[in-house]
Amino acid sequence: MERGSTGADERVLAGRVALVTGAASGIGAAIAARLTDDGMHVLAADLTPAPHGPGVPFACDLTTREGNRDAVGAALEQFGRLDAVIANAGFQYVAPIAEFPEDRWDAIVALLLTSPFLLARYAWQALSDAPEGRFVAIASAHGLVASPYKSAYVSAKHGVVGLIKTLALEGADCGILATAVCPPFVRTPLVEAQIADQARAHGLPEERVLEEVILAPHAIKRLVEPAEVAGVVAFLLGPEGRAFTGAAIAMDLGWTAR
Ligand code: NAD
Repeated sequence: MERGSTGADERVLAGRVALVTGAASGIGAAIAARLTDDGMHVLAADLTPAPHGPGVPFACDLTTREGNRDAVGAALEQFGRLDAVIANAGFQYVAPIAEFPEDRWDAIVALLLTSPFLLARYAWQALSDAPEGRFVAIASAHGLVASPYKSAYVSAKHGVVGLIKTLALEGADCGILATAVCPPFVRTPLVEAQIADQARAHGLPEERVLEEVILAPHAIKRLVEPAEVAGVVAFLLGPEGRAFTGAAIAMDLGWTAR
């Protein structure tokens, strides 16, 4: 999607407030940059926030209830309103089920599923008060289909798609739209970090992992760029996104067409 394609008035988001989680790296950083460019005020929440933005940095651990409560509270305190929550923070862990560390399961479910629930819970009143409240979860193609060795990630991403459907039904009465964005593999540190684990789990040399494992399910054999995901989020927050709620949007290079 091209920059500035969110509608006739491309500054339509100007002055609105977004909370973006996992905003210090990868997709979250691209979303924070794009929404800031579009004139939004962004609270950039992260375990290790980027000190110079984009957005106003806020340090929190989103695997905890306090971290999620504090992030919502900080957005309201800083900007006095909240129009959009982008639940994006996440990490991956790759291991066969019989070896999957139980604490990694707990942490992935806490960050990928419980954090979006808590953010929605704590932000719901503010989003209801906003003229056009939006809740967007960065899910994954793994919210729609599975891959081996990713039991926690696939389970949590399927769960957040279910959460989004529920939020859409509850939000219909109070003007809140809720959508899940489902990208395939995106060029970020999260993907780079799993190449060694994938090589080990699949018994392949690392140099063969990108082509034979990571890009294998993509019909189009490339990585998506973080700015492409940010463009979809900006579209969903803008006026042309008003018909989207309850959907899991597969922007997946043909992965789930199979
Ligand atoms: P990334 O590793 O580049 O960035 C993730 C960010 O989340 C980091 O800045 C990290 O500090 C932050 N974070 C991690 N744990 C945290 C915690 N406990 N509290 C607060 N912040 C925390 O990852 P990314 O690739 O940009 O992924 C972002 C989201 O997109 C994730 O939910 C991921 O599952 C999803 N996604 C990624 C891909 C991909 O291929 N990269 C594909 C589909 C979906």
